[in-house]
Amino acid sequence: METIDRGSAGSARVAIVGGIHGDEPAGVRIVRRLADELDPVGDGGEGTDGDGTTDGSGTTDGEVDSEGLVRLIIANEPAIAAETRYTDADLNRAFPGDADSDEYERALAARLAAELEGFDAVLALHTSHSAPPPFAIFSDLTESVRRTVTGLPVDHVVDASGLRSTTLDSTVPNTVSIEVGRQGSEEAVEFGYEACLAFLRVHGAIADEPPTFSETTVVAGREEVPKGGGEPHVHYANFEAIPEGAVFAEDDVYTHRVEEPGVVPILASERGYDDIFGMYGHVTGVVKPPGEGENRVYPIEGADERDEAHDADE
Ligand SMILES: [Zn+2]
Repeated sequence: METIDRGSAGSARVAIVGGIHGDEPAGVRIVRRLADELDPVGDGGEGTDGDGTTDGSGTTDGEVDSEGLVRLIIANEPAIAAETRYTDADLNRAFPGDADSDEYERALAARLAAELEGFDAVLALHTSHSAPPPFAIFSDLTESVRRTVTGLPVDHVVDASGLRSTTLDSTVPNTVSIEVGRQGSEEAVEFGYEACLAFLRVHGAIADEPPTFSETTVVAGREEVPKGGGEPHVHYANFEAIPEGAVFAEDDVYTHRVEEPGVVPILASERGYDDIFGMYGHVTGVVKPPGEGENRVYPIEGADERDEAHDADE
């Protein structure tokens, strides 16, 4: 594990973690780029506000608080070197970890969790075999998590609280994971970098431009969709509504017909995973930006009425 601390324009302690999976180079490249561009510790706020002599736009909005910190972490170095997802165990299934474990990732999970202890906001970078759009994942909707998910440039966030309890976002408070794009693509690096800047802005760590927030649709993750064998077919894209009675995916073993309304795929992929086509999710509502109502998931009002009106018009 490599930890690189950088200065912050604000008072929050925030962290960005790349390289949790060794075969996802985007996160590592994004963290390195941020390490190059952010100011050293103790030099933070001044630099990010501009030096006041070159571009003239450097408006200093507020006091610089030296308590703030941006911690950049490259997590699983042996797996990154080997270009493999993990060496002994999947790190993102190994939390909270065990410092005494003989399994490399289980011991690393404990060290990584310790590096993130007490942080105000954490963003974990991932890529996938699935098609766009990028999306975020949370397990516990703290005020910090609300700020992150409504501040990231994503339309959807997956509520993973009903899924595994061994991931980084389910064990380290105030953590959001983000799937920034297709594994190995340049688009994933570019999008992920911009997403990190948005994350740093909404938590006050950089002051290059004002943060922006938007309502984010919450999809509760429910169950994995198993894959059997033979030629795989996936018929619906991520977050695309699967009509009641339609087949989401099939192969020689399975025909996965969806028998209820409101189901959408998450991480849908024909060949990305050996044993699953992806996951089923259910749209539960929206999270509103900070300052707009309470910190909870608001059901999407009038969705049923709109459907009925639409049917009547046909
Ligand atoms: Zn990953």
